[in-house]
Parts: sequence; C-alpha cells; structure tokens
Amino acid sequence: MARALLMAVLAVTAIACDSTFVRAQPVQAPTFATSGNADFDSWRDDFASRAVAQGRDPAVLRRLLSGISPDPSIITLDQQQPEFVSPVWDYVNNRVTDRRIAAGQAMKASMGSTLTQIQQRYGVDADIILGIWALESNLGQAPLNYTAPQALATLAYEGRRRAQFENYLLALCQMVERGLATPDELRSSWAGAMGQPQFMPDVYLTLAVDFDGDGKRDIWNDNADVAASIANYLQNKGWHAGEPVFDEVRLPSGFDFSLADGSTRSVSDWEGIGVRRIDGSAWTASDRMLQSQLFLPAGASGPALLLHPNFGIIRRYNNSDRYALVVALLARAFEGRSGLVASWPTQVGSLNRDQTLELQTLLNSLGYNSGTPDGLFGSGTRRAVRAFQTDQHIPADGFPTTSLLNQVRARAGVSVDPPASSSPSSSGSSSPRALDVRGIRELERLLGRLGYRVGRADGRITAQTRTAIRAFQHRRHLDVTGRATSDVLDEARRAAR
Ligand code: CA
Repeated sequence: MARALLMAVLAVTAIACDSTFVRAQPVQAPTFATSGNADFDSWRDDFASRAVAQGRDPAVLRRLLSGISPDPSIITLDQQQPEFVSPVWDYVNNRVTDRRIAAGQAMKASMGSTLTQIQQRYGVDADIILGIWALESNLGQAPLNYTAPQALATLAYEGRRRAQFENYLLALCQMVERGLATPDELRSSWAGAMGQPQFMPDVYLTLAVDFDGDGKRDIWNDNADVAASIANYLQNKGWHAGEPVFDEVRLPSGFDFSLADGSTRSVSDWEGIGVRRIDGSAWTASDRMLQSQLFLPAGASGPALLLHPNFGIIRRYNNSDRYALVVALLARAFEGRSGLVASWPTQVGSLNRDQTLELQTLLNSLGYNSGTPDGLFGSGTRRAVRAFQTDQHIPADGFPTTSLLNQVRARAGVSVDPPASSSPSSSGSSSPRALDVRGIRELERLLGRLGYRVGRADGRITAQTRTAIRAFQHRRHLDVTGRATSDVLDEARRAAR
C-alpha cells in the first residue's frame, strides 16, 4: 500500500518535472550579509522569502535590501506627535512666497510647449500641476536625503504599519523588475515618498508616466515625466477639465455662518441666498451648475471661499484644506492673478494645542460633545463649537479663537485670560529675518530633537545644518531655502511642541 502510494507520487512528480521543469527548481530567497542588527536581519530574511514566494525576483530583492540597516533618524521622525497646526494665515503666507511664485513662472516658461501638451493630454491646468510640484519638492529643489529601500525597510521593520510598508517594498521591487527605475535612482523622503511628485511605490506603479517615451518613468530628473505624472494622478482622481477650483465670495449681511459646515449646494443655490463673487463678476451658466461648499478658513471675519469639486481633487493629493488652498493660490499667482481680496483676521488669535485641549474639555463639561480631548481641532470639535456659538447667538462659524475660548471659560465659570493677542509668529506679510547665533543654536537643537542630522548645536551654519534646514522645510512644505530664518525657527518650535 505504502509502496504503491510512493510509486504514484513519484510518477506524478516525474510528469510535473517533465512539463514544468523550469519551475520545479524551488526559487531560493536571497541571503544578506548581517546588518549588525539581528532583529532587522531576521525580519529582512523573512520578508525576502515571503516576497520570493509571491513571485518577486530574488536578484532584485538582493540589490534593494543588501547593505542597509534601520535608520534611527527615520524612526524618530515617524514617531513624532501629529503636527501642531499653525494659524492658517501663517501657513499660507509662509508657502505662497514671492520667491516660489517666481520659480514657478520660470519653470512654466522653461517647459514651454511640453507643459501645454501635458495640460491638453490630461485636461489638468498646468498651473495646478506646478502648484503641487512646488509644494511637494519645490520644483525639484528640495533634497531627497534618503533612499526608498532603506526608508521603507526601516518603517516595515519598525513594525507600527508593517503590512503597509512591506507592500510598498513589494511595489518597489516590481518597479525595478519592470525596468521603470533603477535601484540607484530611488531617492526619497524619510517616509519613502519618491522623486519630485513624492509618490509612494504603489502610486508610482499605477500612475507615474513616461511622457518623453524613453522607457523610464523618471520622476527624479525628467521634468516632463514629473509634470505628466502629477497630471495623470489628478486626472485619475477625477479632475474636471476646464472647471475652476474655487471662487472668493462676499456673503450677504445677516448670513447664517452655520451653512459653512461642509455641505454642498449648487453655485446657483448659493447665489440664491445672496452669495456673490468678490469682484462682482457674474457666474456663467456652467459655473452655476457646480456643486460647491462654503469654506471659511479663518472663520466669519476672514476670507469666504466657494470650493468647487476640483478643490476636492487637489485634496486627494494631500488630504488638507490648507494644502489645497495653497496649491490653488500658487496656481493663480503663476497665472499672474492676484491672491485673496479679504485680509486674514490675524487679530483674532489662534489656539495652540494646550488651549485646544482646554476648549474641548470645557465644551464637554458644558454638554457640547467634542469627543475625547486631544488638543487637535477636528470636525467633532468644530460641531461642538458651532452648537455653543448658536446657543450664545454669535456667528456659528465653528472657528476657534482666543476670544471664543474666553467665552467658553466664562460660561464654564473658570478664569479668563487677558484679551486675545495674535501669536508672535503671526506677522503676516513681514519678511523673515536671519537668525543670530542664539537663534541658530535653538533651531539646531529643535531640528536635532525632531530627528534631523545637525551635528553639534553650536550656532554655526555648516553644510550639514543647511541640509537639515532644507529637509525640514521640505517636510513642512515651506520654501526650501536652506537659510536659518525666523520663519523656520517658528515652524520648528511648533513642530517640536
Ligand atoms: Ca521618461
């Protein structure tokens, strides 16, 4: 019986070997020299054998994962608290800068008809492409200080989101297997976002474009591939060709600010309740059909914007209203159009994390549910603020200010701070100043604490300090100057809070 079974198995094996003799040889997982970190080595061996079992090429895995070890600076950067949110006017003014506008216009001029062709092929405005490109990599000027294999392997090994980062590594392997990029090209941010559009490997595989037709999707060095890849991304997410992104509007007196709660109405309906373009020009018939939401980025006393569907498509690139607003404002500036007409209400002040935490705690104690207090201003807190404002008969814009916090404190019977003053960094249009030695030393210390390699905090600007500043500016979507200026110090203080 046993013998008969054995013979049958041998016969089947012989047939299998005969017909698929190439695959009968088990594919060997690659082996690696030790990194000096036994835990990392064992994760890497395990990952590589699973990757090979899924059909990845052992030789490519070996090239990508040899000679690397986990980078502690990446783990520090990854474990930082969520970013403190700076006042929207600082965010906008620090990112829509004259220097960046000039750089975008120069890029537009230098790319000439290529950019026009890309705009025509994908139906995405060239100025929007440039706006995203400027924020993601300063039009290619931002440093990419890491390599994707090391960044992704470090984050997979760290383990907080292991499955996600292992999938990125598998996609990275496929990029190289398919000859779309070479291993030495894979420069990335610390988080593994690659090239000038800052694509993760899965996005690269599905949406990066070889526009110049040389067989490579070169999002590191080829401007046409970069711009077309950004355009293809937006088209894929549903960009509506020819539609505007937003309109700045004027609201009628007595307007119900609670309508700015994210709900969508046609432009025609907004017009019906007295909303008008701020320059007085009329909407066209097709504009009136857009489904749009009212957005008050700085509350009732600041600019009012009607966001059209394309605004939401920009958010698919980076899920933040203020990011999308900066892209849209940069695009307008590249076209030679002016920025917002209404000024930012810097005098209302904005809340820091501790104040937001206090606001949430007090609102909860007053019966306005703002969720679990975390110091971050999200949609739950916004709803609670609106409900409080409605009960107090003040404009229900859901916007947190120091005066609002004081009103909530008064209702809750706790002591009230002196009248609101804007935060020291809320200088608006004043240009950043160069730091003195003390300021540089503080900046170096903060950047070091945030995980950037700055060497000794000695107040001297070395090449290493400049590289760290540029990497920090890149991460925060600031203009990448490499200069130690007051705006960079302010941003680092917020980041390190
Ligand atoms: Ca190419």
